[in-house]
Parts: sequence; structure tokens; C-alpha cells
Amino acid sequence: MVIARSLRLTVIVLVVVAGALLSAVWAGRHAQWLAQNEEAARSNGQLALYANGLHTLIERYRTLPAVLALDPQLQRALQGPIDAATQDELNRKLERINAAARSSTLELLDHTGLAVAASNWRLPTSYVGHNYAFRPYFSQSVSQGSGRFYAVGVTSGIPGYFLSSAIKDGREGFLGAMVVKLELPELEQEWAQGPDTLLVSDARGVVFIANRPGWRYRTLNVLDDADREELQRTRQYHDQTLEPLDHQVLGNLGGAARQVRVNGPQGTAEYLWASLPMASEGWTLHLLKPPVVGTEDSRNAALAAAGVWLSLVFGGLWLNQRRRLAALRQRGREQLESLVRARTRELRDAQEGLVQAAKLAALGQMSAALAHEISQPLTAQRMQLASLRLLLDQDRIDAARQALGPLEQMLTRMAALTAHLKTFARKSPAGVRERLDLARVLEQALQLLETPLRTAGVHLHLQVTQPAYVRGDAIRLEQVLINLVRNALDAMASAPTKQMHIALHLQGEQWQLSIADSGGGIASEHIDHLFDPFFTTKPIGEGLGLGLAVSLAIAHEHGGQLSVENLAHGARFTLALPLDTEPA
Ligand code: ADP
Repeated sequence: MVIARSLRLTVIVLVVVAGALLSAVWAGRHAQWLAQNEEAARSNGQLALYANGLHTLIERYRTLPAVLALDPQLQRALQGPIDAATQDELNRKLERINAAARSSTLELLDHTGLAVAASNWRLPTSYVGHNYAFRPYFSQSVSQGSGRFYAVGVTSGIPGYFLSSAIKDGREGFLGAMVVKLELPELEQEWAQGPDTLLVSDARGVVFIANRPGWRYRTLNVLDDADREELQRTRQYHDQTLEPLDHQVLGNLGGAARQVRVNGPQGTAEYLWASLPMASEGWTLHLLKPPVVGTEDSRNAALAAAGVWLSLVFGGLWLNQRRRLAALRQRGREQLESLVRARTRELRDAQEGLVQAAKLAALGQMSAALAHEISQPLTAQRMQLASLRLLLDQDRIDAARQALGPLEQMLTRMAALTAHLKTFARKSPAGVRERLDLARVLEQALQLLETPLRTAGVHLHLQVTQPAYVRGDAIRLEQVLINLVRNALDAMASAPTKQMHIALHLQGEQWQLSIADSGGGIASEHIDHLFDPFFTTKPIGEGLGLGLAVSLAIAHEHGGQLSVENLAHGARFTLALPLDTEPA
């Protein structure tokens, strides 16, 4: 039991802690994911800005070869063989324009791709005299009228963007091409200021611009044989070895951003990698940022989630506890109620048993009294009958007739007694109201109790006004009086002197019949309960506790009262009944 409970507790604690950890981790991750997405969106915005800057720069120079291609001096020079003086003139002209336009190099190619003049004619790396027909910008100029190509200079070894325009004669004949080279070192320097890595890759995925050392000439895609052959032919990246960049996409974020692990020039590192294609050049611009890690937001989110989880769990536990307590209380209440019901039932059973026992005791008492009351006269009568027979045998008729008198008297008395008992036993029909003399009722009751009164040796003092007319049921009133006298007798059972005062007199409109005894009186704690049904101080089998309750009910039935008071020695019960003024 104890082990099971502690196991349960351990499991609950584990679940709570694990839940708090899980929700914290989840919320932290989620917050981090959101922060990364935000960062990705920011990167995309930044990329658009960089792309725009690059695009504007290129556009600025795109017009330069197109405008120069219209120069009649250049057109004229390309129409025939070029002598040294013309070449010198052209070289100087291109040099001047190049300086003014602040481009890297300007060169003039004839229809075979041979550089006939160049702005860098003074330098050892001068283009003049070299043939560039293998460069795509030349062939593009022949076929499309203009070309563009990013390449490492075969002569200078310096990479740059070549923009070219075809030079034509009046009849649209191809005379040659005007080429401008942009080396973009300023751009790379400017980009190097920023904290992030910026790359530009060509359509094959070869990185040719990078603001960090070591990234340039790395390939983002695997080059196939055709690619390599083409690169060889155009000598785009001259003799650079194109090493693949070892990288691995870990996950996609919003937009064109990914989370990427790179084993690159700066060692192994994770980046938030956003890319933006530049449609006009066929390039792709890349921005690499360090990934978002454990920001304060994600820490706060983790703490908040753990907090919410814990509040939910403790709230749930608290509710559960409350429910269980309520259930326990309810069960307790129900148990108590059923206990009370069971006890009440037991008490009632016990009481019913008591009443039954008391009834039996009363029956026993009454039988004894009856036997005593009847057997005595019967014995006397038998003796008298025997003496009567003797008298008749002796023919003493007169004496015999005389002897019949007491016999008759005794039989009459016995008949009266049984008649009385019969009426006493029978419940009187309700509503019997006759004019009767209360003094007569008292007389009858005393007659019935004559034997016990005599046996107990009670001194009876009567002070009775007669007639005392009341209206009511004689038998029931007699029952009241018998009760009161019997109680008085019981109260005096062990008293040294037994005095009973019975008085009947008129007071105002009421007849008052009082019965006073010289018994022990009534204890103060009992006096309020005397008239309660079943209240008795007598031992079981002797008292029913119904006498006074019934008597009070009868007194009320007759519009009267029954009251009790303690005297110096003993108690006095008074029955008050309204006087009957109507004539019979
Ligand atoms: P019971 O006589 O069967 O006990 P009653 O209702 O007649 O029932 O009486 C109730 C109780 O009142 C008695 O048990 C007794 O304690 C008390 N009592 C009645 N009459 C007297 C009296 N005259 N003196 C003292 N106590 C009395």
C-alpha cells in the first residue's frame, strides 16, 4: 500500500518534471524557429538590396560599349587594316574614355576577335595583339549584337565582368566588338565590411564573387563532364581548380532560406543560408549568416511554457484533490446518515419491545388484582352457601332467607366490578358528552381502588362539593382519576406517613379536582417531561409512562386542564373542567 503510493507519487513527479522539460524544450524550439524565420525573412530583404546594388552597377556600364560601338572613328578603323599610328591613336582614346568612365579596361576587337586596341596598352598585361574569339562575349556579339561574360582574365589573371557590343557598318556587316571589363574590387571590399558571408554564383553553381577569402572558385553543384569541357573551352575561370563546397542542407526555413552545415574555408559551421536568383545575369546571390541560437526570447518562451505547464498540472491536481475530498465527505455523510437511521431503528425496536414488556407487566398486575378482587368474595360466598344449605336442612327458612341478603350483596358488588372493568377495558365511543356529576365519577374511581388504598394504609381526606356538574364521558374521566390516585399511591409506597387529600370545589367557571399526596414529590429535572408519552421513573414492568399523557389528552378533550405542582411534602395534581350550566 505504502509502496504503491510512493511509486505513484514518484511517477507523478516524473511526469510533471518531464512535462515541464518537454514543454520548455518545445516552446524554446518553436520560439527559435520563429526567430530563425524572422531572420530568414530579414536575409531575403538584405539579399534584394545587395542584388539591386549589383544590378545598378552593371547597368551603369552596360551602355558604355553600346555607345562606343556607334563611334564612326572606331567603325572606320575596323573597316581596313590598322597601321601603327591609328592603333596608337585608338589606344590613347580608349585609355582616356576608360579613365573618364572609371571602368577597368576597354578593348576593341576586330571581326576575328583580335584585340586591335585596348586602354591598358601601356601595361605588360596589355590585351593588344591577343585574340579573344574563344570568349563567349565575342561570339554572343557576333550572333546577338551584344554579350556578357564573367571570367578570369587570361592575360591579366584578374577576374571581371566583360560586357560587349557589336560594331557594325552601314549595311549591318559585323566589323568587330567593343568590350568593357568591370573588375568589381570595390564591390567586394564594400561587401567585406558586413558581418555576413556574401557569394555570387553563376548558372553552373560556381562561386565567382565572395566577400570572404577561400570561398571563391568553389562549386555549389557537382559539375558534369560537359560543364568541365565548356569551362575548358571558354577558359572562364582560367587555371583555377574548382573545388566543390562541402555542405549539407539541414532544414528549410521561410522563403528561399535554408539551414546549412558547411565544411568550408572557415571550418565546419552552421549557417542560415538565403539565396536570390538574379534573372538578368543568370547569377545567384547568396547570403550566409550565423544561425539564431538560444535567444532571450526562446529562453523566455521556454520558461513561460514550463510555467504554464506547471500551473496546469497543479491546477489539475488541486481540482482532483478537491473532488476526492468532496467525494470522501459525501461518503462520510452517507455513512453517518445510514448509521443514524440504523440507530433510530434499533431504538424504536427497543422501545417497542419495552412497551410490549410494559403491557405484559400491566396485564400481569391487572390479573393479580382481579384474582384477588374476585377470589376473596368467591370464598366467602362458598362458605355462605354451605351455611345456607345447613339452615335449609334444618328447615330454618327465615334464617336462610336472611342469609341470602349478604350473598346477593356480594354478587351485586362482583357484577359491578366486572361491569366496571368491562367499561374500563372498552374504548368509549368518541363524542359521548353527557351531563354528569364529577363527584359521582370520583366516588366510582375510589370504589374501584378501595382495596389497594386500604392495603397501603392511606389516610384519605375528602373535601367534596356535590353535585359538581360537568359535561363529558364518565368512563374516560374515571380513567384520569384512577391514574392520578394510582400514581399518588405509587409515590407514597415508601413514605412513612401516607396522607391523601382529595378536594373538589368550584372556582370561577371551573370545577377543580385536586389530588395531593405525601410522597417524594417530583424532581425538578422531571417536572417538564411528566406529561410526555413514555416518560416514567418507575422500573421496567411497573410503569408505562402513558398514564399522564393520556390523562392530559382527556382533560384537553373536555376543554379542561391538568397541571402539577410540588408541595412541601409530595405533589398535587389538579384537574380543571368547565362547569356545566345547562339543566339536564
Ligand atoms: P407511569 O405511572 O406508568 O410511570 P405516568 O405518566 O402516570 O406513567 O407517570 C409518569 C411519571 O410521573 C411517573 O413515572 C412518576 O415519576 C411521575 N409521577 C406521577 N405522579 C406522581 C406523584 N404523585 N408523585 C411523584 N411523581 C409522580
